[in-house]
Amino acid sequence: MVLGILGHPVAHSLSPAMQEAALAARGLTGSYRLLDTPPEALARRLEEVRRGYRGVNVTVPLKEAVLPLLDGVHPEARAIGAVNTVVNRGGRLIGHNTDAPGFLRSLEEAGVRGRRALVLGAGGAARAVAYALKGAGWEVWVHNRTRSRAEALARAFGLEVVPLEAARQADLVVNATSVGLDDPAATPLPAALFPPRGFAVDLVYRPLLTRFLAEAAAAGLGTVDGLGMLLWQGALAFELWTGERAPVGAMRAALRRALGAGA
Ligand code: NAP
Repeated sequence: MVLGILGHPVAHSLSPAMQEAALAARGLTGSYRLLDTPPEALARRLEEVRRGYRGVNVTVPLKEAVLPLLDGVHPEARAIGAVNTVVNRGGRLIGHNTDAPGFLRSLEEAGVRGRRALVLGAGGAARAVAYALKGAGWEVWVHNRTRSRAEALARAFGLEVVPLEAARQADLVVNATSVGLDDPAATPLPAALFPPRGFAVDLVYRPLLTRFLAEAAAAGLGTVDGLGMLLWQGALAFELWTGERAPVGAMRAALRRALGAGA
């Protein structure tokens, strides 16, 4: 069971730790390799995958570029416009997106509920999250630093572009920007704008406890950190590659160890 991840750079990926723990827990012999792949080397790399890999993950900056190079793309990945998981089915490379359903699983697991969601950001992560929430029946609002990108996202999925202050009326606020990444002092939302109740989700997982989540918790909201989506997109990818149920406990423990958070 040879697996891997294509991206550029990929050196800091947590997926090898998570997926190798999953293989070990299921008693499967195999490995998960880091395959640093600059965009111009993607087509060649996919031929290598076709010959010697059961499947791969795809990450920044290749999630969109990989689509036209595959033999098939699952309708959900096509609708999102991004592939994060490729399965090798007897030499045919099929693209899937497990980010969107993985995000929903992390919400379910945490008991998140409500009607109106505000997504902060308009990049690749925001796209998967907005698509997932819309499909799950939420009314989805979007806010982004660069308004034209928020408008493009809103047009694609039938969402509403709102000012940051709309957060006060949301049941769920999702940080899908990179604000807070490696910077514990940064936050995408002033603390005064958190709603009086509801939930906050941060996709940033370095650090796990961001200022955004700390301030949301202090405001009385339920919180979900970035480990949830990372875990569940990986669990769903593992199931596509192996046909076995993902050992979620072992995968979560491996991620927490890799993040220095303890199991
Ligand atoms: P991306 O495509 O580069 O998008 C970055 C987004 O952040 C854009 O909307 C950008 O706004 C916004 N942004 C960046 N700096 C900002 C600032 N100083 N102030 C306000 N907005 C700012 O990145 P991505 O792939 O969507 O990833 C976003 C974050 O999600 C990253 O931290 C990534 O690690 C995390 N992520 C986590 C998971 C997970 O499994 N937990 C999965 C995917 C991504 P502009 O449009 O104005 O530039």
